Amino acid sequence: MTHEQTIRDAAICTGVGLHSGAPVNLRILPASAGTGIVFHRTDLEGFPIEASGRNVARVSYATSLMKRGVLISTTEHLLSAFVGVGIDNAIVELDNLELPMLDGSARPFVEMIQKAGIRKQRKQRTYLRIVRKIELREGDKFIAVYPADAYSVSYSINFPHPLIGKQSFGVRLENGSYLSEVAPARTFGFLHEAEAMRQQGLIRGASLENAIVLNRDEVLNPPLRFPDEFVRHKVLDLIGDLALIGKQILGSVVADRAGHAMHTALVSRILRDRTYWEETTLEERTAESAFASAATVTA
Ligand SMILES: [Zn+2]
Repeated sequence: MTHEQTIRDAAICTGVGLHSGAPVNLRILPASAGTGIVFHRTDLEGFPIEASGRNVARVSYATSLMKRGVLISTTEHLLSAFVGVGIDNAIVELDNLELPMLDGSARPFVEMIQKAGIRKQRKQRTYLRIVRKIELREGDKFIAVYPADAYSVSYSINFPHPLIGKQSFGVRLENGSYLSEVAPARTFGFLHEAEAMRQQGLIRGASLENAIVLNRDEVLNPPLRFPDEFVRHKVLDLIGDLALIGKQILGSVVADRAGHAMHTALVSRILRDRTYWEETTLEERTAESAFASAATVTA
């Protein structure tokens, strides 16, 4: 995948927002090369908000974008699906403030994009190659990115729950690994935290259909899609949050008990300091490594 891509035809879905409980219609439309992902609030005269780190707003249980007071909430699963299927450019119209939760994973988004088709564009895709490590720590939370030739993500979590505990999962984003290993992993929540969260205005749209729900010792809506579905969902979220960089990175991302706030802190750090990365295309890199091996032979 050396060129930018967009969706071939419009794709539509309907659902409710996980936190707002608000009903929403969502439409994904093709966009020209160089556009990136741009959300439009059709209920607010099509007000546009770019999926960019500079528009990141309040981040707690989900990632929200805000521009001039207009909010778009819970962007991470759709943005993750775009990275997973290789969509660089799209217009995303929605008629409410939060993206639909669907089944709690990225799989329904992936399927609707694949059904609409993917179109290769003329513009060469530029990648952001990490050239220096970045490590961020906050208490026992950690996130880092290291130089690497491909985009890979690994995550560790540790929840004091008999069905979760310590889990680690890593994936290199190539050859469809996202589609089979990451996209189906659903979000999860604990029944004993639900009431307190509702009182904070959260998870008003949550149900047994759009999240794995656990009580203190079991899953209320089995079966799990993977034994380690929980940590895989964290990988899904992280990929979606890092999409706010606006370009795919060539680097190895490592996270331990991080969350949306740490994910977006990494995005800000990367965007703020250009000494951590350089822009590159895959052709240039192929040429460079050819040059490197020629140099080795000469030496
Ligand atoms: Zn999520």
